[in-house]
Amino acid sequence: MAPLIVCLDLEGVLIPEVWIAFAEKTGIEALRRTTRDEPDYDKLMRGRLEILDAHGFKLGDIQDVISSMEPLPGARDFLDTLRDRTQVVILSDTFYQFAAPFMRQLGQPTLFCHQLVTDDDDRVVDYQLRIPDGKRRAVGALRDIGFRVHAAGDSYNDTTMLIEADRGILFRCPDNVAEEFPQFQRTEAYDELLPALLG
Ligand SMILES: [Mg+2]
Repeated sequence: MAPLIVCLDLEGVLIPEVWIAFAEKTGIEALRRTTRDEPDYDKLMRGRLEILDAHGFKLGDIQDVISSMEPLPGARDFLDTLRDRTQVVILSDTFYQFAAPFMRQLGQPTLFCHQLVTDDDDRVVDYQLRIPDGKRRAVGALRDIGFRVHAAGDSYNDTTMLIEADRGILFRCPDNVAEEFPQFQRTEAYDELLPALLG
């Protein structure tokens, strides 16, 4: 049998939603929307950048909030156990500028994500997708080079990668996503997710 690689979403699976934390800190309700609510990622991100600009927030303001955040309870142990058993790649629609402190806390797992573009004044002026549809294409590419891929995620932006994988699993997803994608096993706890990924 082909060797297994596990692909995991990051926000909602291993760490809290960064934009929600920033919305809570700043009190800007409109920043609470995530990929859980808006399936169109570009629309979601353009909206976020407009809001940041309108309020004069810079990258450093978001990074200040991130510096006070930690991975979800149990995430490090779950990931360590998983990485002890198989190789893991984290596929995320977040940005390297947001994710770095979390990666240190999670033992520096491999992360494929995107980049924010800032100007000389630290304003976030744009974002750069590494490639469009990056999660699905990463899973497809791993399968093309001879791996079996099991994947887990919590949101709309994970569903194409779950479809592309040999096995897709939902973790702590909202009801609307579970209802739209009944073919995927739904899990709530790490001790449920671990055997679902490895079994
Ligand atoms: Mg997520």
